Amino acid sequence: MPSCAICDDTGWKTIDDNGVSRVTRCDCLKVRAAEQHLRDARIPPRYQRCTLENLITYPNEKFLKAVSSAKRFVEAFPVVQKGLMLIGPPGIGKTHIAVAALRQVIQRTGARGQYYDTRGLLRDIRSTYNPTLQMAEMDVLRPVMEAEVLVLDDLGAERLTDWVEETMSLIVNTRYNERRPTIFTSNYEDIPDEGEMNSLLVRVGFRLHSRLREMCEFLEYDGPDYRELPPNAGAEDLLGLWKTQPRRKLPSKTTGQARAQLKTPKSAERVDLKWSGGRAGS
Ligand SMILES: [Zn+2]
Repeated sequence: MPSCAICDDTGWKTIDDNGVSRVTRCDCLKVRAAEQHLRDARIPPRYQRCTLENLITYPNEKFLKAVSSAKRFVEAFPVVQKGLMLIGPPGIGKTHIAVAALRQVIQRTGARGQYYDTRGLLRDIRSTYNPTLQMAEMDVLRPVMEAEVLVLDDLGAERLTDWVEETMSLIVNTRYNERRPTIFTSNYEDIPDEGEMNSLLVRVGFRLHSRLREMCEFLEYDGPDYRELPPNAGAEDLLGLWKTQPRRKLPSKTTGQARAQLKTPKSAERVDLKWSGGRAGS
């Protein structure tokens, strides 16, 4: 039995155009393309059912703002001026929100999207430098650069080296120049303190940080750790846990180290990324 009753899975349907019978593309193609793009998006199994609607919400103003911004992003895509930057401690649902937005954009529009954990991405790029693997760095970079929507999870987790900074800048700047929105998550607070080792600024460097401020809506929030909740927990449990569990406590004794990391140019690890640009599909 064909899965599409309109076109018998041929992808073409006959329509009546002012009394003239014409053949046109069937809508099921868009649906099938979206399903394929969803399978290609590299979404980790544990997040494959995430939606913005099945995330349990509770009265937490900044958290609710993050969710509603993500919903707006999904509804407006592809006409979005900015991506999203979800910031907060581990376990508060940042990846859920990011992946849900990615999935829902793909489902709604059929766009090509990609999920990458930042550390995994850098590891995959590095692995292409191994000559025994017949993989060029562009094989890894191209889908990331060209994805119509991209999630980069856990930004700042990787220790900042010149190579990391160059690589991340290349990816982020290329996407910025091509107006392709990116949704980031990070555990590192955006505090304007160059002396704070655990600030987003110190974790990603000046250049990337200022670019991120331009290209993303920053959504910073605090909350309880979803992973500590029993399976059937509801809004009240979350609220209760949040009230009894102060999350944010940043150590700030490593001031000198943080400044050194930001200001001392390290002897150049050779940066050798060749991205000639080019638009998706070209
Ligand atoms: Zn059809």
